[in-house]
Amino acid sequence: MLHEITAGTALTARLFEALRLASQDPPGVSRASYGAGEAAAHALARAEAQALGLECHADPAGNLFMTLPGADRGLPATFIGSHLDAVPHAGNFDGAAGVVMGLAACASLRAHGTTLPRDLTVMAVRAEEMCWFPAFYLGSRAAFGLIPAQLPDEVRRSDSGRTLAEHMAEQGLDPDFLRLGQTSLHPARLHCFIEPHIEQGPQLAAAGIPVAVVTGIRGSLRHPRCLARGRWGHAGAEPRANRADAVLAAADLATALEAFWLAEEAAGRDLVLTLGEFHTPAAMHGPTKIPGELRFSLDIRSEDRAVLDAAAALLATRAQSIAEQRGVSLDYGAGMRVEPLRMAPWLRAALNAGAATARVPVLEMASGAGHDALIFGQQGVDCAMLFIRNTGGSHNPDEAMEPADFNAALAVLLAALPAICAA
Ligand SMILES: [Zn+2]
Repeated sequence: MLHEITAGTALTARLFEALRLASQDPPGVSRASYGAGEAAAHALARAEAQALGLECHADPAGNLFMTLPGADRGLPATFIGSHLDAVPHAGNFDGAAGVVMGLAACASLRAHGTTLPRDLTVMAVRAEEMCWFPAFYLGSRAAFGLIPAQLPDEVRRSDSGRTLAEHMAEQGLDPDFLRLGQTSLHPARLHCFIEPHIEQGPQLAAAGIPVAVVTGIRGSLRHPRCLARGRWGHAGAEPRANRADAVLAAADLATALEAFWLAEEAAGRDLVLTLGEFHTPAAMHGPTKIPGELRFSLDIRSEDRAVLDAAAALLATRAQSIAEQRGVSLDYGAGMRVEPLRMAPWLRAALNAGAATARVPVLEMASGAGHDALIFGQQGVDCAMLFIRNTGGSHNPDEAMEPADFNAALAVLLAALPAICAA
């Protein structure tokens, strides 16, 4: 099998190094959504694709499509892709690995003169990382016409303070494409979407296995701006019964959420939850004051819709009981809910069969992080993901993916592609 990936291996090493050099921002790399780093990455991917003779075009949102023609050009295309933006001071592989693997697969197929039954399109998606604009999956949602009309003029980039529309225009792209809900992808024209990605947790490294076939992507319930509002008071003078302590109220909620988590876990149901921010206002708080206000964030994720429903119900009932018991109101603010996505069983089976052919050991696991595949899946497109072992965690410059592990995942993909494209 190894000879089959050789052509892809040269492209892989060259493109990862070029990406790193084009976006280095020590420590690590930075590729801002609709910024210079992302634009440079798209230009590099396009140059490699053109050198391979792939058909290249970008939509007005900047998503890049690079197609290896198949035998029957009328059939819906098989898509492989991921994003090319990266959080500030990131590693070089989050997102980029999926695009590089798509191109490496095309290079290998070209080198061996293989024509697939249908087109294979490598898609470099724009703006996946939410740290730049406070809106999720901008590029893939734009391709399906799913961006609310006013959003391009509302959301501002975290580093520049300028709107999405301004940054798009600066890149020569067209914010009207988003405002008008125009589309560059139609679900019926997509055969399936395969997203290779580094694993962002430690499971593959712990298991000593290079590649995972993903079972599903956790859905999420997020409330980034929650507020517990009680009453400020004197720490010494106020009797207990008279207090409306925002810290104790929020602590009650945190304890209730952990008890819920333990119960779900004991029942064998998937759940993770995080109160990532938890603070009294610095301008008001002090060691001798009863806290009258506390701000916090909630991030609750599960592969199981019913668990997200139960979490939402728990938040509501606890807000009521805590208000009654402590005189503190809990306001969860605006929430965002994303439904879980199950990967297509036939694609999982094909990738597992590819792994057996390529003699690559694989694990099956859920994805804790969200990915563009979620948006494709929500549009009814069959999806699959491959995870590549990464020993350095994610969203940090220590991300570490060994070339041998990338090549193992590429071998799985190449072994599975003929059957996937023939299905
Ligand atoms: Zn990513």
